[in-house]
Amino acid sequence: MMATASDTRAVLDVQSLARADVRALPLYAVDRTARAIDVSDNVNLWGTPPAVRRALADAPVETASRYPSLYSIPLRDAVLGYVGLGSGAAGGVGVVTGCGSDDVLDAAMRAFGDPGDRIAFAEPTFSMIPIFARLNGLEPVAIPMTPTFDLDPQRLVDCRAKITYLCSPNNPTSTMLSRATVEYVVEHAAGLVILDEAYAEFAPESFVALVARHERLLVTRTLSKAFGLAGLRVGFGVASEPVIELLTRARGPYKVNVFAEIAALAALREGADGGLAWVREHVALAVHVRACLADAVRALGLEPLPSSANFLCIPTPDARDIARAMRARGVLVGVHTGLARDVPVLDAAGGQALRIGVGPWDVMETVLSTLAEARRCA
Ligand SMILES: *Cc1c(COP(=O)(O)O)cnc(C)c1O
Repeated sequence: MMATASDTRAVLDVQSLARADVRALPLYAVDRTARAIDVSDNVNLWGTPPAVRRALADAPVETASRYPSLYSIPLRDAVLGYVGLGSGAAGGVGVVTGCGSDDVLDAAMRAFGDPGDRIAFAEPTFSMIPIFARLNGLEPVAIPMTPTFDLDPQRLVDCRAKITYLCSPNNPTSTMLSRATVEYVVEHAAGLVILDEAYAEFAPESFVALVARHERLLVTRTLSKAFGLAGLRVGFGVASEPVIELLTRARGPYKVNVFAEIAALAALREGADGGLAWVREHVALAVHVRACLADAVRALGLEPLPSSANFLCIPTPDARDIARAMRARGVLVGVHTGLARDVPVLDAAGGQALRIGVGPWDVMETVLSTLAEARRCA
C-alpha cells in the first residue's frame, strides 16, 4: 500500500531527520543581558585599537557588495610577519585565517578526524572543544590535568587519538603548559596536534615557532582577545604548508568578511598608522593590572590560579552564588561549575570557579568592591 501524505509527514518529523549529535547539543548559553560592567568573556576591556577605528571609518561601504578575497592572502602575509615566521624566517610554514579561531578549530577537526575518531585533551579546557568534536562526529576523550595545572604528556600521547588538543595559556584555568610538555606531546602524539594560543600575547612565551620543525602541529591564534576585535570574528592557524593546504580546503572560501579583513590588517600593522603598538602597550598594561588584581583578590581571602592570560581563574565553592549576587549588582563575571574534580584545588572548590577579565583599573575597583559585597551576601 502506498504511504499517504500524512504518513510521510509523520515519518519525516524534523527532530528525527537531524543528526543525533546535533539533537543532543545545547545552544551556547552565555548570559548576554547588558550589564553595567561585563568582565565575563576575556575580550580586550580597553577596547579596539584606534588604527582599526580609522581604517573602518575610511573603508568604502561599496566594498560590501563584493565578495571578500577568497583566502585572505594579504592577511596571511601580515600574520606570518606578526608571528615572526615571515618570508625567509621559516620555509614551508603557512597560515589559514577564519571566522574567529573557532572556525579554524572546527575546520581542523573536519579535515583530520573521520567520524568516530577520537580527540584527546586535558580537562578542564576550552568549552567549545567537546562541542566542535561532537558536531564533527568525533569522540572527545578528556584526561585530568596534573595538580600543578600542567598535563601528563605520556598519558595524553597514550590515547593514540587522531587529534590532540592543547591550550596554553588554558581557558578557563589561565595557566600555562611547560615547554617540555608541549614538545613531548608534539613529538609523540599519534595524529594532528592543535595548540590553541588564544592568550599567547599575555604569556611569557609562545610555542608558535615549533611549527617550523613539526609538520603535524597546528597553532591557532585569535584577534578576539589582545587585539580587541572579538565582534569582527578573525582568527588564524599557523602550520606546515601541507596542513594549511588541507585546512584551507576544509574551511572553505570567503570566511573572513571584507570589513574584518580591513580591520585585521590595520590591527597587525606596525608604525604610526598601525595598531600593533597599541596592542603591545595594552598587553603590557593587562599584565601589570593582572598582578595588582591578583593581590587585591588575595587580600579578600581568595586564591586565584597563577595567570598567564588576561583573566583570573578563582576557584571557590560558592562561585555560582557569588556570580549571581554580582550580576544582581550589575557586574557580569564568568562562572564555571562542574570543573574536573581530579585536580585537588578544583575539587576543594567543589568544581566551581569565577573567571574575571583584566581591564582598566577603575573597572577592576568596581569589580573588586562588588565581589567583596557579593561574598558577604551570597
Ligand atoms: C576565546 C577563545 C577562542 C576563540 O576565539 P575566537 O577567535 O573569537 O573564535 C579560542 N580558544 C580559546 C581557548 C579561547 O578562550
